Amino acid sequence: MGAIQLHTDIQFIKGIGPKRSALLAGVGMHTAEDLLRHYPRRYLDRSRQAPLGSLQDDDDVTVVGTVVSCGIRKGRRDRFTLMLSDGSGTIDCVWFQGVSYIRKVFTPGQTVAFSGRIKRYRGGLQLVHPEYDLISDESDGDQIHTGGIIPMYSSTEKLSRAGLDSRGFRRVMQPFLKQIIPEVTDPLPETQRRALGLQPLADALAAIHFPSDWEACARARERLVFDELFFIQLSLARERKRREQELTGHRFTADGMLHRRFLDGLPFSLTGAQRRAVEDIQRDTSSGRPMNRMLQGDVGSGKTLVAVMAMLAAVESGYQAALMAPTEILAEQHYLTLQRMLGGLDLRIVLLKGGTAARDKQESLTAIESGAADIAVGTHALVQQSVTFDRLALVIIDEQHRFGVMQRAVLRRKGVTTHALVMTATPIPRTLALTLYGDLDVSILDERPPGRLPVRTAWRKDEARERVYEFIRSEAAAGRQAYIVYPLVEESEKLDLADATAGYELLSSSVFPEFRVALLHGRLSADEKDRIMADFKSGTTRILVSTTVIEVGVDVPNATVMLVEHAERFGLPQLHQLRGRIGRGPQRSTCILMTPSYITETALSRIETMVNTDDGFKIAEKDLEIRGPGELFGTRQHGDLGLKLASLATDGPVIERARNTAHDIISADALLEKGEHRPLKDALERWSAHGRGGLLKIG
Ligand code: ADP
Ligand code: MG
Repeated sequence: MGAIQLHTDIQFIKGIGPKRSALLAGVGMHTAEDLLRHYPRRYLDRSRQAPLGSLQDDDDVTVVGTVVSCGIRKGRRDRFTLMLSDGSGTIDCVWFQGVSYIRKVFTPGQTVAFSGRIKRYRGGLQLVHPEYDLISDESDGDQIHTGGIIPMYSSTEKLSRAGLDSRGFRRVMQPFLKQIIPEVTDPLPETQRRALGLQPLADALAAIHFPSDWEACARARERLVFDELFFIQLSLARERKRREQELTGHRFTADGMLHRRFLDGLPFSLTGAQRRAVEDIQRDTSSGRPMNRMLQGDVGSGKTLVAVMAMLAAVESGYQAALMAPTEILAEQHYLTLQRMLGGLDLRIVLLKGGTAARDKQESLTAIESGAADIAVGTHALVQQSVTFDRLALVIIDEQHRFGVMQRAVLRRKGVTTHALVMTATPIPRTLALTLYGDLDVSILDERPPGRLPVRTAWRKDEARERVYEFIRSEAAAGRQAYIVYPLVEESEKLDLADATAGYELLSSSVFPEFRVALLHGRLSADEKDRIMADFKSGTTRILVSTTVIEVGVDVPNATVMLVEHAERFGLPQLHQLRGRIGRGPQRSTCILMTPSYITETALSRIETMVNTDDGFKIAEKDLEIRGPGELFGTRQHGDLGLKLASLATDGPVIERARNTAHDIISADALLEKGEHRPLKDALERWSAHGRGGLLKIG
């Protein structure tokens, strides 16, 4: 066996062997590099440990000391006790469970760290079932585990039993690092690395495992965080460059005749933000390269109008455009809106959706295929294999966050050269947008249409229910309308539907018998949903009780009340989306978040955020802070992106630096062919081989 290299099988590393390597494979560690990247989960600073003599009842602590004595005490229940000493005092640790395993773990003379909450018991201090980490015992002659800052590695029970607990990893790591560190080549070109003030990769890797002090640890982290974010950006930049070079896009040649006719018929003018977005799109679609743009705009910012302008340019240039919505209700609504807005322009607009009756559907399909249809509106039905467009040049995807990654991918494959505009009402924090959609251009609608009053938001507990109903009654009596929304948690759709149904029955028969109340939920047939929405839009129905199917896109300006039942169960983006359904007309609107009297801290923090701000970006930032980015994007978990140390919530500035560096490198050397970029190219390939690249190639 030759020297250990990064790609060497993990079993050949001293102290691993075939048995442990099989277990490591189970947690996704296969190579020397995987072990090298198994960073400590946290560190223990012996110089900052509380002396045992100073501990108080109820302290939450990590203590380090030497095991003086240990053993089983017989009693009503057998227990394992251990006395720990550090010279300043002693403490007892006690286990009632797992005694037969624990007794094998400890022997006198070991140095051990324990974490837990101190309890006073019969005059002495105790830790009951503390977490523990063996620091060293007599077999560790060289004292590597006791100096300065000690790395603590995460492990699993299986690995621990095979000797790879935190201490086991430390033991393997020390000699391993000596061998592997000289094998590490820094992928980052020297000039860039210096300009960024980052330390060499080899130094960082050595220091993240065994930092000499906290300063060294922070510097190592800074370098490694940069790399994690940098490879994402590099992969995005390369992908984007490739697209720019290889693909050609349909060139829109419209001179704006349809735009002028459309705008002339509009009772208002575009906001500055809308105008800028339209210009961005015009620039893209006339460039000869395929557009890949995201239109971000808070609820009510007027994205539809921008979409219409883009579609008109396509149509005037002789192409077809498609508009996709995540639900049938929305597709239908877009269809009706387009019919109304574009009525005078002599265009053929068709609706295609799952539930359309066979004959209508065939008619729409024929129109799309023959080219008779200028604009097709639909749900995911639009991307199904059976739909072939005659000359599709623009695809617009509304409310992007509702779409699965798959559907978007399929759509792009239908025509590589299709211009794509992705519209999202989820204001994605900039850091996250740059990370996940770095290859998209972004236009932001940061200006609301004029004349909108901000929505009042109130938090009410169940006790106030009568007064809340009274308020809704007064609004309805004044001719306005209300939404009452019940949560829908996927795991128990039935139960929640029961909630909404029961709510509906009570509300329609006893609370608001004088108004027409309707119930909308996802299980209704498309026709039923359409009818219910149409009645609500026309004002015939005053109060619409629903599950969250109305979360996105629905536009009824006369609705001024949004009552959210069990608001504590909703996430921030959802609450914000729901609130966006009101405040769309000239009347003052009110959003009421109803909860039981006791709610958790996190729920409280969400509700307070909603009450305090209506700025979608602030809300999204808060959401990222409370929840982390994982859930925001379906399958895109933190881990999928290879982020071990970096945090999208707090490392925002690093993302920007990583992005700029990636762009500089790729614009100078798109294919990373230059000699100095060789290590970078190799590292990027290894990075992509982990399957991370695939997650990013969607837009
Ligand atoms: P969203 O961005 O949430 O999709 P919409 O496109 O549904 O927003 O627009 C919300 C409402 O604002 C619609 O009723 C639309 O007609 C209106 N609107 C859009 N642009 C303007 C504008 N420039 N001036 C006035 N009202 C506008
Ligand atoms: Mg919309």
